[in-house]
Amino acid sequence: MNKKQHVSPKHPRAASIETREKIIAHHDSSVLATAGLIAHGRGEAFDYLIGEKTGAPAFRAVKAAATSLLLAKHPVISVNGNAAALVAEDLVSLSEVTGAKLEVNLYYRYPGRETAIRTVLEKAGAKEVLGIGEAASAKLPEIGSERRRVDPRGILKADVVLVPLEDGDRTEALRKMGKTVIAIDLNPLSRTAQWSSITIVDNIIRALPHLVAEVRRQKDMSRRELEEILHSFDNRQNLGSEIKLINKRLSDLAEKGVYIPEVVELYEHLEEDASKSN
Ligand code: ATP
Repeated sequence: MNKKQHVSPKHPRAASIETREKIIAHHDSSVLATAGLIAHGRGEAFDYLIGEKTGAPAFRAVKAAATSLLLAKHPVISVNGNAAALVAEDLVSLSEVTGAKLEVNLYYRYPGRETAIRTVLEKAGAKEVLGIGEAASAKLPEIGSERRRVDPRGILKADVVLVPLEDGDRTEALRKMGKTVIAIDLNPLSRTAQWSSITIVDNIIRALPHLVAEVRRQKDMSRRELEEILHSFDNRQNLGSEIKLINKRLSDLAEKGVYIPEVVELYEHLEEDASKSN
């Protein structure tokens, strides 16, 4: 059991540390598998690269994702440990505004874990959670891991599946079954990001509230307007824009070398001191 640290709200990375504490607590309660900690770290690294904010390409993907969920006949939100640990309330809100079902789907399925995730979702207000135990009785083709086990009332019959923090194999399998897959993944180079129909390259913590708000905004639009939004979205192009955004940000940072204002100041002082002593 890990002891929770007190984080001063003044700490420059307080939000990130708070999130880590949450992730660790959910690891202690079995919601998160140990590999989930590593996945979180990988996400944090990519968040640095995108500047820890939702960029224009991510907003475009959020818009298309909202449309796709609204136009779906059987939308499903696939929930893993990280998603439940970080954004349970937002997942429930999204399920309510879109009518999408919540289904637990895990790479590491072990006793107690699925029910721990169901409890987190229920505490957040979920009325129904699919994919628990024997309910995950159907199998997706060509997947070796436990991820293949799905609920016939959920992912199996879904036409649109939202997969926050996914692994590439299942995204590929779902696409090959003809489903529309919406991913939220900070890494635009992951196989999940590449295989998805709509890829939101953003932190799930920021992306989900945007997605819920966008669904609410689009609720009164006509079918024609919604179809137009989907028609004008190109995931390949949008992923390209995302990679360009990272590229530009890194090029700008490379010009500066250091970018944190206090560190820039420190370098300026040191340069001043050096020129005085010469
Ligand atoms: P793939 O199989 O798709 O190539 P992977 O092997 O990287 O992906 P995992 O190790 O399961 O898959 O990692 C999960 C993914 O989730 C990583 O790409 C990581 O960037 C992303 N991720 C982690 N935390 C977050 C978060 N908070 N928001 C969005 N994405 C995240």
